[in-house]
Amino acid sequence: MKAIPYGRQNIQQDDIDAVVKTLSSDFLTQGPKVKEFEDKFAKYVGAKYAVAVNNATSGLHLAVLALGLKPGERVITTPITFAASANCVRYAGGEVWFADIDSETYLLSFEKTKKLIESKPKGFFKGIIPVDFAGLPVNLEEFRNLADEHNLWIIEDAAHAPGGYFIDSKGNEQKCGNGNYADIAVFSFHPVKHIACGEGGMVTTNSEVLYKKLSLLRTHGITKENMQENHGGWYYEMQELGFNYRLTDIQSALGITQLCKNDAGVKRRNEIADAYKNAFEGVIKYQHLPNGTYNAHHLFVIEVDNRKGLYDFLRAHNIFAQIHYIPVHTLPYYQGIGYAVADLSQAEHYYSKCISLPMYPSLTNKEHNFVIEKVLNYMNG
Ligand SMILES: *Cc1c(COP(=O)(O)O)cnc(C)c1O
Repeated sequence: MKAIPYGRQNIQQDDIDAVVKTLSSDFLTQGPKVKEFEDKFAKYVGAKYAVAVNNATSGLHLAVLALGLKPGERVITTPITFAASANCVRYAGGEVWFADIDSETYLLSFEKTKKLIESKPKGFFKGIIPVDFAGLPVNLEEFRNLADEHNLWIIEDAAHAPGGYFIDSKGNEQKCGNGNYADIAVFSFHPVKHIACGEGGMVTTNSEVLYKKLSLLRTHGITKENMQENHGGWYYEMQELGFNYRLTDIQSALGITQLCKNDAGVKRRNEIADAYKNAFEGVIKYQHLPNGTYNAHHLFVIEVDNRKGLYDFLRAHNIFAQIHYIPVHTLPYYQGIGYAVADLSQAEHYYSKCISLPMYPSLTNKEHNFVIEKVLNYMNG
């Protein structure tokens, strides 16, 4: 059996054709494909606005800046995420505070976040960055109520979750990134995620004010909006210190065809998840799915006692499982600024046992059955 990675992009002929066509068009960047991708993506998640960026890390950076984060201000996130969810706060000179995860969903714990916020005076924190970890949507409705009580903003890190949703208290389906409860959401188009652009990201929001700030900061802080009669056609203003965080038309063309496949991809990911769950039910612990929630399944995570043993055993059979994630507060950089002392015991316990099994739309039944067989072989000694 050929090597089975934990995740893999799904590039087909229509993706290749779209890129090739864009290569011979007039615009390689700053052209019509970017806008088309933004419009289609906004429509897909149900948000008013979308801003394409060169990766999700840039998107997170723009998000904290658009929300006005200043040096020294404090933001809460989960320790079980990719470092970028926390790093964006550091880019703006802010302080990262971690609240523990829920031991069943592996998401940022609402109760722990509430407790942390309420243990400090009003105004101590500025925002919360919950992560739809592994593709499981955070119940943002409860976080929004908490955030409103304490005047906090919310950035949804939806890098794992295009196509996922939760059902809110009114019975409405709330798609990840739709902007109904979070101020801003961020998606990643790294090839290991759902939609592959090589590198790429999207920022969504329902706020026109935030949309304008995000757009301005993405392109150097430069605008041509304030054209005055006494200037010529070349005139532009740089109003703020922005960046070049643009996505190209080549990447956007790929993003458009990839986006079309996302629903089918998420459906297939859920079929694979069901097969894993049927095989492991009662034997191996896996990520809990709350009622009414649709997991977009970037990952399928299980917990086992001898995690390193299973990891090595699978590798010996050409199955490249992965670990998501080393808790961010234990990374040397964050240890160095004193975060390792926080009580994040659920996150650390989870990390001692977690392993992500192969999960991607082109994983065949034969392949995921082989993975199941090998996992059960190992568990049964
Ligand atoms: C991948 C990822 C990012 C960063 O995405 P890039 O596009 O690689 O910058 C941010 N947050 C989470 C949770 C991720 O998994």
